[in-house]
Amino acid sequence: GCGICTNRCVFNAISIINLPETLDEDPVHRFGQNSFELFGMPTINEGSVVGLLGPNGIGKSTILNILSGQIIPNFGHYDEEATWDNVIDHFKGSQLQNYFKKLSQNEIKLAYKPQMVDVLPKVVKGEVRPLLESVDERNKLDDVVEKLELSKIMDREVKNLSGGELQRISIAAAVLKDADFYYIDEPTSWLDVKQRLNTIEVIRDLASEKRNVLVIEHDLATLDAMSDYIHVMYGQEGGFGVVSKLRGVRVGINAYVNGFLNEENVRIRSQPIEFEIRPPNQLIESEIITQYTDFDKKYPSFEINVDAGEIPQSQVITAFGPNGIGKTTYAKMLAGITKPDSGEVEDEVEIAYKPQYINTDFQGSVQDFLYMNAQGYGTPLFNSDILKPFDLDKILDKHVAKLSGGELQRLATAATLSQDADIYLLDEPTAFLDVEQRLKVAKAIKHIITRDDKSAIIVDHDIVFIDYVSDRAMVFYGTPGEHGHATAPINLRDAMNKFLSDVEITFRRDKETNRPRVNKHDSFLDREQKEKGEYYYLE
Ligand code: ADP
Ligand code: ADP
Ligand code: MG
Ligand code: MG
Repeated sequence: GCGICTNRCVFNAISIINLPETLDEDPVHRFGQNSFELFGMPTINEGSVVGLLGPNGIGKSTILNILSGQIIPNFGHYDEEATWDNVIDHFKGSQLQNYFKKLSQNEIKLAYKPQMVDVLPKVVKGEVRPLLESVDERNKLDDVVEKLELSKIMDREVKNLSGGELQRISIAAAVLKDADFYYIDEPTSWLDVKQRLNTIEVIRDLASEKRNVLVIEHDLATLDAMSDYIHVMYGQEGGFGVVSKLRGVRVGINAYVNGFLNEENVRIRSQPIEFEIRPPNQLIESEIITQYTDFDKKYPSFEINVDAGEIPQSQVITAFGPNGIGKTTYAKMLAGITKPDSGEVEDEVEIAYKPQYINTDFQGSVQDFLYMNAQGYGTPLFNSDILKPFDLDKILDKHVAKLSGGELQRLATAATLSQDADIYLLDEPTAFLDVEQRLKVAKAIKHIITRDDKSAIIVDHDIVFIDYVSDRAMVFYGTPGEHGHATAPINLRDAMNKFLSDVEITFRRDKETNRPRVNKHDSFLDREQKEKGEYYYLE
């Protein structure tokens, strides 16, 4: 088999594992002997946003490093010195030739938002305002500050900003530049749904000025709304990556969801991802595992009020809302880590909890960690339900302290789901995961919950993930950092309507795959749905 399908499928002929040998082209770049190889490059499309969609470790950031001139591609000759002359010669007759010619002569103006924004405070000192003023070549500072909701943090020191604030500052700094090409690597990490929608807006503004944008993004709804075209990337994580042909954003994401690239004749997943359309206004009835009364918590500068709610068996409840509105505080109260000022959870229920911020001081390998922290480690059931879906089999020997953000996230979520509990409480389990992993995690959670009559409560910001896993949803609203209010778990449609009417965004479902898509602002559907008060979708 190709190692991606578990079954022997009809596409075995195009074994993905052996692809580098069967591809009759040289790689564009190879890091070294037995190191990662990149095949193909994205198309440069004038005046549009092109997205790169693919798993972690497939070469997406490498492409941006090449296009921004930080890596000179070596075409597989890692032992020779790479030169721009060689690059220009290699791409003779294509758009890229001209691009690299200009790039090598410093005639292209670039703006680059790197993937890792948490290193920003090490390179940038001082306050936010002078930093953004110094890059405001488009004269759009006020506009961008308003759209990305930065006004409250303009006079703060960069070193005191949170992850989400650093992300928005970095996006602002990139889009404010007057560049020909904008390279935006993973803009939504740490951002809440509203901030993701704001990010879409500032990036679309670039395209409307006929500028070129290349963006890497794992949140499918955001990628969809942001891009005109996409390249799906596939291959073997850490081994090699192939850039597929340019597709329209809808067709490309659907091909990805369906798991098959028909023009290349490549299967990237054994099964399509299937989205259900749930009955619109009713809840699926089920036994109640537990219920809680209204509860409240007051900190010196923040207060949260939670409406009483029921937690039904075999169902997944998602919780969403802006950053700083009390979602983590709610989770901690439910988990019994923080005591509410008033209110309580009925009955003795066992709750397994994955915190938002994962403690990493464990000394030892992933295997050691699982041995000590996961229930049933080594059993066939653990292998099929936890180890495989979370792709832990490939990282068993790695040291926990050296895991990437996505690897650590998968380990922590997997260990939590292995516990013998009644309710799995997961705070932001998709942060740092790629699309494929998000969908696998969603499936694994659903499987465990329904098979064993458990429940899950999941705080998350990815609409496609939320849509896929939710049976019910809770909305957190109010004034971030001051006062939060949480609804009871209600049906997803009402929850989305409540949340989306505030941000004035409507969604529809894709006709082919049923995945949720953002409507274009002021389009026919957008206006029609707003009139009817149906922000989430029409049947
Ligand atoms: P993505 O952005 O798709 O997650 P990257 O482009 O960052 O992936 O990396 C692709 C592969 O190339 C990874 O296996 C990574 O370890 C490897 N890689 C990236 N940069 C280097 C480098 N400078 N030297 C050696 N290997 C590298
Ligand atoms: P969310 O998870 O929705 O982003 P949190 O529940 O983490 O929000 O935080 C909500 C607010 O409560 C924030 O303003 C935060 O600073 C404040 N807060 C959280 N924990 C504490 C605490 N232990 N003491 C004081 N304030 C806190
Ligand atoms: Mg990357
Ligand atoms: Mg939180």
